[in-house]
Amino acid sequence: MRSMLLAALFATAASAQPTPQDARLGQIAAGVDAARMKSTVAKLVTFGTRHTLSSQTDKKRGIGAALDWTESEYKKLGLPTVRPCDTVTGKRVPNPTRVCNMVAIQRGTERPNDVVIITGHIDSRVTDVMNFTSDAPGANDDGSGTAAVIEAARVLSKHKFPGTIVYAALSGEEQGLLGGKILADYAKAQGWNVIANLNNDIIGNSCGSDGVCNDKVVRVFSEGPRWQGHEELAAQIRSLGGENDAPSRNISRFLDSLAERVPSIGLDVMQVWRNDRFGRGGDHTEFLNAGFPAVRMSVAVENYNWQHQDLRTENGIEYGDTIDKMDFPYLAKVTKLNVVALAAIASAPPPPEPTVEGAVSTDTTVTFAPVPGAAKFVVRWRRTDNNHWSEEQRHDGPPLVITECRVPGPACAELINAQRQKVVLPHIRVDDWVFGVSSVSRDGYESPVASAVPGGAFKPWVKPADNPPR
Ligand SMILES: [Zn+2]
Repeated sequence: MRSMLLAALFATAASAQPTPQDARLGQIAAGVDAARMKSTVAKLVTFGTRHTLSSQTDKKRGIGAALDWTESEYKKLGLPTVRPCDTVTGKRVPNPTRVCNMVAIQRGTERPNDVVIITGHIDSRVTDVMNFTSDAPGANDDGSGTAAVIEAARVLSKHKFPGTIVYAALSGEEQGLLGGKILADYAKAQGWNVIANLNNDIIGNSCGSDGVCNDKVVRVFSEGPRWQGHEELAAQIRSLGGENDAPSRNISRFLDSLAERVPSIGLDVMQVWRNDRFGRGGDHTEFLNAGFPAVRMSVAVENYNWQHQDLRTENGIEYGDTIDKMDFPYLAKVTKLNVVALAAIASAPPPPEPTVEGAVSTDTTVTFAPVPGAAKFVVRWRRTDNNHWSEEQRHDGPPLVITECRVPGPACAELINAQRQKVVLPHIRVDDWVFGVSSVSRDGYESPVASAVPGGAFKPWVKPADNPPR
């Protein structure tokens, strides 16, 4: 390892000033169209029910017709599609049933193996989760998330990105996060380097049944200590920290920062530092179980009368998940945030995997291997009780890696190892701060931050014993 103190271009407190890159992201997101999204949800509702156990062969009604229609929308955009399926039996699937996702892949131009995935679930339900015959419009849960997936594909397929973007309509969520698991397994089998899964579930209403309304905020849920590997990581985290710095938490911070820097989105992020709503679940959890960073986006105010309900009126109160209850300008805003985040993540190389040293020292040393394709790195730190990265130092990356090591392989690995970077921060005590590093692309796009904590890397955590000998 070369011990090299990099020249800091400048060191300053981090700010949320918009950059030219942010302006371009805002322009891309301007392509999101609320009226078109309303047509998408209206179309999804016409399938009557999209219950996972409904017909897979009926041309007009049921989950099969809905998946076929989604495929045809992707095909119109010229995107290649795959339909990862698995035959499942379980508590909510009494007979072996084929559960399929409909996925479009926009292959990256430079780093096709680095993947960011947007998901929504296309299946719907009524009060009885096993009822697959009654009308279950699922307009908001989760026609809204599915519409966001399709709209993101429509908008982003017009542009090119160095990394790959995957658009996925998932089945089987209501029957037990089945589609999430199928896609996470598929991603693993493909060897995708999943930088983030942005899961959208119930993102299209703005008022609760108690009259509380909010169309200015979206909630982003993220786990804190990473669950995958938590038993092995627990002792290290107790000693070195990391309770608030899993990659998903840094995706959450990244989304919050993007929403501030791209004001044309028109939304604030409320970061909820919990994996999902109290005692409830969503498909992102299956990505987390597989070791992939993932967050869930959901409305600021849920309306419990309008989800998981038989269509009916009782005591003058309307129940059911129908399209007339939705707020499409709001749905468009949440979709814009997704589009901006997908474009940003697909534009920057993934963050490095930093480590930090400095116990009983007046200085802190942050070490990391450079990431191919990254022209610069930003070392960030914040007090342990600060929510956001407050301090930053920008550094040029080593030029050899940029020009000669874009294709992974043994020669590249050696080159990377020889150019490990070491940044010394004088008079900064490691005890009092959390440190992280992000990558910056040649054209100035910045990745989320990976924290220098146990389990902070943007890839599945692997027990040291499981690492193959080199
Ligand atoms: Zn849902």
